[in-house]
Amino acid sequence: MATGKNRRKTRSIIWGIASGLMTVLMLMTLLVILDGRHNEIVLLGDESLVLEYGESFEDPGVEIREVGRVFPTTKEPEIVAPINEFDPTQLGLQRLEYLVVDNGREKQFYREITVVDTQKPVIELLPIQEGQEPSWMRGYIEPGFTAEDNVDGDMTNFVEVTVLDDRVVYSVTDSSGNEAVVERALPAGLDAPAIELTGGEDFTMQACMSWEDPGFTVTDGQGSDLSQYVTVDGSVTPYRSGEYELVYTLTNFAGESVTATRHVTVEPVVQSDTVYPERKTIYLTFDDGPSYYTPHLLDILAKYNVKVTFFITGNHPDYVDCIGRAYREGHSIGVHSYTHNYWNIYASEEAYFDDFNLCEDLIYEQTGEYTKLFRFPGGSSNTVSNFNPGIMSRLTKTMTDMGYYYFDWNVTSGDAGETTDTDQVYWNVISSCTSNVSVVLQHDIKGFSVDAVERIIVWGLNNGYQFLPLEESSYGAHHGINN
Ligand code: ZN
Repeated sequence: MATGKNRRKTRSIIWGIASGLMTVLMLMTLLVILDGRHNEIVLLGDESLVLEYGESFEDPGVEIREVGRVFPTTKEPEIVAPINEFDPTQLGLQRLEYLVVDNGREKQFYREITVVDTQKPVIELLPIQEGQEPSWMRGYIEPGFTAEDNVDGDMTNFVEVTVLDDRVVYSVTDSSGNEAVVERALPAGLDAPAIELTGGEDFTMQACMSWEDPGFTVTDGQGSDLSQYVTVDGSVTPYRSGEYELVYTLTNFAGESVTATRHVTVEPVVQSDTVYPERKTIYLTFDDGPSYYTPHLLDILAKYNVKVTFFITGNHPDYVDCIGRAYREGHSIGVHSYTHNYWNIYASEEAYFDDFNLCEDLIYEQTGEYTKLFRFPGGSSNTVSNFNPGIMSRLTKTMTDMGYYYFDWNVTSGDAGETTDTDQVYWNVISSCTSNVSVVLQHDIKGFSVDAVERIIVWGLNNGYQFLPLEESSYGAHHGINN
């Protein structure tokens, strides 16, 4: 019994030792496995990263870490890292490859770098030069700009320029889709200016010989005077009563226009009513002087204190001082003609006015006053002006509309051609002074006619006539118009 027990005991001890050894062996094997007995190779830094275009990259590289310190390896690994170069100017994905030779085995590692361009181009605006400021008249003049991109370089030619009412917008997009937008503010006041008519849109004037536009102003939002660019369409004939329209236009660089319209009304001057004298009256009138005979005539008139009317010319410059003397001595002075040249003065209204005004100036020089009285050379009924059809009809109206008073005659002395005899002149006059109002035509450039004046005066005074100078309200003795 005891022997059997010991055998069993011995066998269980052996099993115990064996299984203990096995356990130790397994534990040691496990330790070796767990310890590694290898190199761990680690890619430092990010495996994949994004860099801005041009951004430098310092490669952190690959690190080798030994694993299993209990049983260190004896062979150092060899690293080739990376085998290709990173290019910071190449957009897109780049793969850096690291090669490690460890214990004779090649291992590859990769790092992915994406190079991106997120920088938009830089637009620089050149300043507006003096004298080039935007305005309604000249519009917007681009002062210029530049655009530079970090990737695409000079992009100036790709900039889109949009001119708006209050600003200019510049935009450009680079090849990576980065858009740059820059604005230039425009000054206020680019609206169309208004033409302001001095004297108003409705302008009323009395008929006269010359028209002068009352003027206008036009100033833009920057305070610039643009009046020199205004054109005026239409015209006013100032001596012809009626309605006229003037259109003032200002056009800018783009062909846009602003206009203003003026309505001009030319009204006739209201004439004095004719006043007939209560007594029988003779108006002696002398045309075409003064001349050599005029001083003597003035002496005779002074002797009898008789006042007459002189329709003067500028044809005898040596005697123009008689105009002043006659005026001071109470006689009336009227315009006849400066040149008395029918062909010239009846050529046109303007030609007539020019001649007329020379006479007025002469009268003003001698008397200090202008006159409203005049007599047409040849009278209003003349036909010598037929070379210009209708001129007398037009002149009688325009001169009257302008406030002048023309006088013809109803008694002719015949001194214009029919006679050169003083007695005949005398008889012609006194035989014709039959009505209550006689307007007598004589010429003080004719001595034989002047010589008849004293006898005419004596006859008239003895027969109850009064002698008066013509006035604006005097009877005009108008002839009919024949042209
Ligand atoms: Zn005459």
